[in-house]
Amino acid sequence: MSTVRLIDACPCGRVDARQKALAYAVCCQPWHLGAPAPTPEALMRSRYSAFALGLVDYLTATWHPSTRPGDLELEPGQQWLGLQVKSARLLDDTHGEVSFVARSRMAGRGHRLQETSRFEREDGRWLYVDGDVV
Ligand SMILES: [Zn+2]
Repeated sequence: MSTVRLIDACPCGRVDARQKALAYAVCCQPWHLGAPAPTPEALMRSRYSAFALGLVDYLTATWHPSTRPGDLELEPGQQWLGLQVKSARLLDDTHGEVSFVARSRMAGRGHRLQETSRFEREDGRWLYVDGDVV
């Protein structure tokens, strides 16, 4: 039996078939370490987790060059509370859309972001292009 216990739940809140929280190590961490996220939803979740963990380089690397901010700075003190993926669909092999709600707290105030994000695959890697805030 393995002695490694995977106890830290992934920030993106993904659950397995039995509604058990997935560990970060088997959820978003592989994409943060460099493996290509297999679907737009996986990339979107990994970007939410990267916001929660402060992984600015990952956010920059997974942003489409045409829309990527020149100098990405995260809000200090913003706490990410949870992600709900509402829907995810592939439009074709290289385009996808994910609708989600992300909740955060900053300076004691709750924020709710509802967005439909667009993703494009280039050289086998999904990239965030842009999104419509609902
Ligand atoms: Zn995750």
